[in-house]
Amino acid sequence: MPLVTIKPEVCKGCELCVQACPQEIITMADTINTKGYFYAKVFDQPRCIGCRLCAITCPDVAIDVQVNAVQYQYFPY
Ligand code: SF4
Ligand code: SF4
Repeated sequence: MPLVTIKPEVCKGCELCVQACPQEIITMADTINTKGYFYAKVFDQPRCIGCRLCAITCPDVAIDVQVNAVQYQYFPY
């Protein structure tokens, strides 16, 4: 099963990942991070298909996707 991890402290709340997810399983939290942004979270992980569109879309590299024990990180730095 794919595992999506969204780092709350890296997220700036742009909601692009919410729009990108074909499964519509990402939403915004109702609490803010230390920067003052509402951050994205996955609310129905079992429905994730591991497409990685969320990770590719995120301009701040806040999302990691693990599929079949392979960790995908885009533009790691
Ligand atoms: S990997 Fe695909 S299905 Fe899973 S949360 Fe990201 S965009 Fe949605
Ligand atoms: S695309 Fe990235 S920065 Fe924007 S809401 Fe999603 S996780 Fe946060």
